Amino acid sequence: MSASAWDRRIARAERLAGAHRAAAEMLKFYAQIARFQKTVYEAIEQEIHPDRALLTRHLAPLVSLVRGIGPPALVQAANEPESEAYAFFERALLQPYTESLARRGYTPLDSSPSTCPFCGEKPQAGVLREEGDGGKRSLVCSLCSTEWDFRRVLCPGCGEEALDKLPIYTASEFDYVRVEACDSCNTYIKTIDLTRDGLAVPVVDELATIALNVWAEENGYRKLQLNLLAM
Ligand SMILES: [Zn+2]
Ligand SMILES: [Zn+2]
Repeated sequence: MSASAWDRRIARAERLAGAHRAAAEMLKFYAQIARFQKTVYEAIEQEIHPDRALLTRHLAPLVSLVRGIGPPALVQAANEPESEAYAFFERALLQPYTESLARRGYTPLDSSPSTCPFCGEKPQAGVLREEGDGGKRSLVCSLCSTEWDFRRVLCPGCGEEALDKLPIYTASEFDYVRVEACDSCNTYIKTIDLTRDGLAVPVVDELATIALNVWAEENGYRKLQLNLLAM
């Protein structure tokens, strides 16, 4: 059932690659990585008692995939396990692993609601879904893709609750993606409004709209959690 979540991400990335020229190369690369992650996910799903050690066998194929099609910075990082950019390789393998564990409903760790109730990582994006008059917000975990309810007027970075400290910005080009900022901790998170575009796939549309990151950063906001491609 959940393997189709990977198929949806791949298909959406490929579709958006044709629509957003500025992000096309990055989205095509992401689609290839997601295709690889799907095979890791399927392998983990076969295991009755998955263990992180199982991921080591996928590292060499991932490195060789990135050497073939990756951006220069990642190709270089592949040779430097001590570099910051190397985190990409660990995270690219951990995502499908943790997502498989989360799907099985393994016992959640203790954490505040601002971080994932399953694995404790920060959210990658927000999601708005139809509910009553408005829309209900949830957050999507950057590692295991667990989604959890989160109040609309509340900063996941610092817990700020004052409406006037939590500005929301949109751009006409992407009217279904909101930059939700916080003037107390100067972080932002992008929220995908599925009431405006029901075909959006949050983790992919978040990537496709890097133009908004540039805008937010120029305006003094820092992203709460960088995505897999460190953007
Ligand atoms: Zn998580
Ligand atoms: Zn804040």
